[in-house]
Formats: sequence, C-alpha cells, structure tokens
Amino acid sequence: MGRVNPHHAVSVFVTDMCTLSCQHCSQAMFRPEDAHWQWSMEDVEKWIYACEVLSHAYDFIIYTGGEPLLWENIVPATRLIRSSGITKEIRTFTNGTIPELMTGEFLGLFDQVRVSDYGHHSHIMEGLQYHYKHVKVFPIQQTPLPSQPLPHMLPANCTCDRIGIMGDKVFHCPNAYSNILRLGKRLEDYQDLWCNMDEYHSGLFIKDRYTQDICSICISNKRIRDLIIRGEYGGDTT
Ligand code: SF4
Ligand code: SF4
Repeated sequence: MGRVNPHHAVSVFVTDMCTLSCQHCSQAMFRPEDAHWQWSMEDVEKWIYACEVLSHAYDFIIYTGGEPLLWENIVPATRLIRSSGITKEIRTFTNGTIPELMTGEFLGLFDQVRVSDYGHHSHIMEGLQYHYKHVKVFPIQQTPLPSQPLPHMLPANCTCDRIGIMGDKVFHCPNAYSNILRLGKRLEDYQDLWCNMDEYHSGLFIKDRYTQDICSICISNKRIRDLIIRGEYGGDTT
C-alpha cells in the first residue's frame, strides 16, 4: 500500500525555554514538566532518516517553542535539515528578545524569520525587516487564552494547516498538545489527535482534525482570534 503523507508543513517544538513569561502563553503548560526541554540532535537525525526512507518532503518546517533561538542545536540542526532536502523551506518564529543572535549569517540559515514583536527591541526588528526581506515582524496582542471552551466557536475556520512535532510525538496540529493541557486533560484522553513518530512514518493518517473542546479554546480558531483582535474577549472570567 502506498505511503500517505497528507501534510504539507510541520511546526517543530525545538525548546520550551523562553526569555519571556507571557500570561497569554499557549505553551506555558509544557514547562512545569521539563523547564529545559530541547529537541536533541539524535531526534533530528532520526526524523530526517525516516523522512528520507519514506520520501517525505514538506513545503516548509517552522521552529516554534518557547523561544527557538534558545535551542542549543539551532545552527547545526538547521544546516543538517537543509542539506537533507526533506523540506523546501526552513522558517522560525522568534519573540525578538535576543537581537544579538540575529546576525546576517544566522538569518541566512532561514527562508523566513517571523518575529512576534513584544516591544522589547522593536526598532532593531524594524531595521532587520528593512534590510532582510525574509524577516517579518508582527506586533503581538497579549490576551490570555480561554481555558474552557467558548460557545459557538465551530466551525473553527482554522488558520493553521500544519502538523506539530514534539519529541517523539506527532500531533494533528501544533496547538493540540497545549490545548489539551490547558483544558486540564491528558494526552490519553485524546488518542485520535496524536501518534508516535514511528506510527506516523508508518503511514498512520491522523484524522478528526476538528474537535469541539480543543478548537473552542484555540488561538488558531479564526472566530476566537477575531474576538481577541476586536477586543471582545478579555480572558477567563472564572
Ligand atoms: S514569547 Fe511566546 S513562547 Fe515565550 S512566553 Fe511569550 S507567548 Fe510563550
Ligand atoms: S483550531 Fe483546532 S485544528 Fe486548528 S490549530 Fe486549533 S486546535 Fe488545531
């Protein structure tokens, strides 16, 4: 039977460490489990090997976290992934708080650098955006996300079409894990939203993308995002 690879892009959680501690952080629930978690070179090599064996090829991968620039393997791993040819593009998020790392040589490793601008070094980020066209700066609105499902939020009009990878697990979307934790639930409660890396590379198709409670607290649900942008959601009231 032919291999199934329905996903064109991947978000990879490369570290849960961060330079900030935002109230609205959708990934905050990771940190109490392991405050210094990093994607190891061994896991990177295993992932590349599996992609090569199975001819998986993505349009882009994007690093997320935490703050990806704190990932100790970011330079060697990015070079390795690029030379492997398993993805057309490599992108990264950053919160723009470590401008000293964002040298021309470092920025040259990426096809796109998406800066979530928290206002710490806005003038530097604007300068980088001016000089490097693949640096994109987005101002961030810091609103706490709901911890309980909001009513009437489906269909989700999801703005995210990527799967998520964290360590040896593959999630049907990058927000599934954090949303499960934010609901106070366990991964085992949502077996259809994730699988192990080996299962994924064996062709297990992750389905059931939209899930009532998970999508009804999610920042990638366009209905929720619009509420926040319009200032009509100010955080949990309970
Ligand atoms: S910068 Fe991003 S990852 Fe870091 S604490 Fe804030 S929202 Fe979370
Ligand atoms: S809206 Fe649903 S499918 Fe989309 S990223 Fe959020 S949890 Fe995932």
